[in-house]
Amino acid sequence: MQRTKRLQCVTPSVSATLSTQAKEMKSSGIDVCIFSVGEPDFDTPVHIKQAAKQALDRGKTKYSPPAGHPRFRELIADKLRRENQLAYQAENIIVTNGGKQSLFNLILALIEAGDEVIIPSPYWTSYPEIVKLANGISVIISTQAENDYKITAQQLQKAISSQTKLLILNSPGNPTGNVYSEAEIRSLAEVVLEHNLFVVSDEIYEKIIYKGATHLSIGAVNQEMLHHTAVSGGLSKSHAMTGWRLGYIAAPIPVIQDMIAIQSHSTSGVCTFAQYGGIAALEGSQDCVSQMLEAYTERRQYVLKTLATISNLDCSSPQGAFYVFIDISQTGLTSVEFANALLTEQKVAVVPGAAYGVDNCIRLSYATNLDSLKKGLDRLANFRALLN
Ligand code: PLP
Repeated sequence: MQRTKRLQCVTPSVSATLSTQAKEMKSSGIDVCIFSVGEPDFDTPVHIKQAAKQALDRGKTKYSPPAGHPRFRELIADKLRRENQLAYQAENIIVTNGGKQSLFNLILALIEAGDEVIIPSPYWTSYPEIVKLANGISVIISTQAENDYKITAQQLQKAISSQTKLLILNSPGNPTGNVYSEAEIRSLAEVVLEHNLFVVSDEIYEKIIYKGATHLSIGAVNQEMLHHTAVSGGLSKSHAMTGWRLGYIAAPIPVIQDMIAIQSHSTSGVCTFAQYGGIAALEGSQDCVSQMLEAYTERRQYVLKTLATISNLDCSSPQGAFYVFIDISQTGLTSVEFANALLTEQKVAVVPGAAYGVDNCIRLSYATNLDSLKKGLDRLANFRALLN
């Protein structure tokens, strides 16, 4: 059977494919250091698992409302009001099967054939693919390491055309760990309002932010901006719940209603007992989140200190998330050649920057324990030395 036109231009997720390959190597007994996976290595906190188990025992096994469990929606709105100064109510929230489905539903709801979506590069690998599936056109803005891979208001101005509908903003960002400052967010918001655009602010890494950086949601700039914003968040990264598939979008009610319509005909909603785990995650103590952040902080320091000793592999200091984006230009290899050779020769899995639109870099995830980081970075140093 012939593939549909829609799928002919879609590329499967490189990071997901690579991570599966690395995990398969590991389960066949090969000692691989896996730095390709974008997920916390921590187990989900016990009180969250307990709540889901209890929900199962209490028979919470039926369909959930397509928009999500009412209590969960309330708690998400409450968190966004309290922590992010975003004036949302439960009706502004839809619970989804993870941040990825949030973005998929949102883009499907907002984008028509020929609409342009502005995406700063390097970008999270799924953004342009989702835009293609919605028949939209991605307009990529390239950024520079010298500006911490952030776009400026001037660059945004220049990228806007009469077809522009949406800007995708991701801070803290994957793959670079960059965090937009308050001043930067405010100047981008001015341009967005001037051109009557809509923004989706992907804040999935909002809880993983290091000393010195602060997170401002663009929707909190002012009331008008809130009407031009959808905030995408979830529990995958903050509470080590990647496999639970719990995400959400907060947006103006008409957008949420369109997303509910899509969800009601696709997944019907989110796993009911998993949502009880989500409720416990938001109602319970947030100490688990700070403990994980402490561990990431220590690993980040170790990775940056060690990379500084490996010649000709530069990287900027991430202010959030758990990735370093390493410049490999001086090796003369493409990112795919570098990542393949590193995996084959040294058994270290990283993601080629090509997956994020930048072919002279690789992404290394430090969401793994220090022992593995020590071993893997030694191997990376050996690999780099042998290239000379
Ligand atoms: N947005 C970004 C920037 C991500 O890195 C990811 C996951 O890696 C997601 C969204 C999707 O998260 P989830 O696992 O909740 O679908």
